[in-house]
Amino acid sequence: MEGVIAVNLAAVRERIAAAARAVDRPPESVTLVAVSKTHPAASVRQALLAGHRVFGENRVQEAQTKYPKLREEFPELALHLIGPLQTNKVRDAVAGFDVIESVDRLRLAQALAGEMERSGRRPPCLIEVNTGEEPQKAGIMPADADGFIFECRERLDLPIIGLMCVPPLDEEPAPHFALLREIARRNELEILSMGMSADFEKAIRFGATHVRVGTAIFGARGTGD
Ligand SMILES: *Cc1c(COP(=O)(O)O)cnc(C)c1O
Repeated sequence: MEGVIAVNLAAVRERIAAAARAVDRPPESVTLVAVSKTHPAASVRQALLAGHRVFGENRVQEAQTKYPKLREEFPELALHLIGPLQTNKVRDAVAGFDVIESVDRLRLAQALAGEMERSGRRPPCLIEVNTGEEPQKAGIMPADADGFIFECRERLDLPIIGLMCVPPLDEEPAPHFALLREIARRNELEILSMGMSADFEKAIRFGATHVRVGTAIFGARGTGD
């Protein structure tokens, strides 16, 4: 019998392909980041056995406990950090992740630049934009985004490839996706990580190149994050 994770993955992939085709985009132009936070390594393994390779985690420590063994078995696995990164975890993040999606403040950008210089490892980075300007939420304010992108790329020489956002929970996400796309366009950034289980098809209509989907693949999480 095919496992539920494999079935969910196939369904999400089909929905991504349909949403892409609807706006004349090739389905391969959208990368599915399967968000495995709070789910056990056994669940990730099910997804790997079903052929999936790109995953997202929001905590450095959780990723360190789950992923090293999976990488031995599936060396082509790619892991994205999608949650807040503390500066004291920068060394572990640069060592353990293939993409860092949550660059959200100058001190972190400086720490990442220093660690990349030290280690020689340069995982591509995305800048997180707080499109809803929510006080409690991570991310650069939209008005500060152009300056921050410039600082990261030109002064710190960080490998910035795109932008990420998490729109406010209780709002229509479309204007947030449109805003992220506009900031990326005027800064000539090609990668847009936006859209989650509830709204990834809409994000694809607004140009998402990466959608981060957890619940629709792995099921509900026990906790609120
Ligand atoms: C948990 C999380 C997701 C996935 O959310 P779902 O609603 O489970 O698809 C996407 N992005 C970030 C930043 C997350 O923390």
